[in-house]
Amino acid sequence: MSTMLELARLSHVYGGDHAAIAELSFTVDTGELACIVGPSGCGKSTLLRAIAGLLAPTNGSVFLHGRPVRGVPDDLAVVFQDYSRSLFPWLTVQSNVEFPLRGRVGRTERQDRARFALAQVGLAGAAHKHPQQLSGGMQQRVALARALAYRPSLLLLDEPFASVDAQTRFELEDLLLRVHAEQGTTMLLVTHDIDESVYLGDRVLVLSGSPARVLADLTVDLPRTRDQITTRESEPFVELRSEVARLLRGTPIPVAF
Ligand code: ADP
Repeated sequence: MSTMLELARLSHVYGGDHAAIAELSFTVDTGELACIVGPSGCGKSTLLRAIAGLLAPTNGSVFLHGRPVRGVPDDLAVVFQDYSRSLFPWLTVQSNVEFPLRGRVGRTERQDRARFALAQVGLAGAAHKHPQQLSGGMQQRVALARALAYRPSLLLLDEPFASVDAQTRFELEDLLLRVHAEQGTTMLLVTHDIDESVYLGDRVLVLSGSPARVLADLTVDLPRTRDQITTRESEPFVELRSEVARLLRGTPIPVAF
């Protein structure tokens, strides 16, 4: 399998003395769904921002398709936790999903891709609504559809389901798994939720507290077709989540600033 993303001793220090991530090195293969789990404040967003080219790391490098990331790469999309700030309230759902494709592909293709992505996330009927007419979970589906319509090589997800209720969260997790199975998009998802990381991932990278370091890189040896009830009850799931919890328990809680 080919390598999509490579981090080479990536470090970032804020304000000269606050180390957020330290010497992070790992790779993500094409088609993989890798989860990063770590305590809040440990440096997960810093890491994703460096990968997305939104932050210049103090040291080390990020390579996408073997090329160093210096600005925001063209073939990358990010889904953030806060859907209420990521959608344009004055645009319809359809236009929000089309927005990143403006100037990149022709009008008809843009519309087709947006329609297809909205159908994928179960929102075909909401294309002409505005974001504020939708529930939080539906708005997050729109944000996901927008990222999918863009057809990135790498999809980064920063705590994407942390702001929705538990039931919606399960639905969105399953939606993500379905899309991953259908499209094979390479995904890197960060979360502070241990169970979510094991449920979704082909692999779980466990990060220590601030500065974030890789404590463990665990293969999730569960059947790819997952189910919110039977998977979570299964012995390998329970064993793996306990292993991650034990690793994280050994981690000091970062001091809040
Ligand atoms: P996480 O996403 O895991 O919650 P972050 O990457 O947001 O963690 O933050 C890691 C650490 O870096 C925290 O201690 C946070 O306070 C600090 N930090 C984040 N952004 C900044 C910034 N722009 N300036 C200074 N410190 C920051």
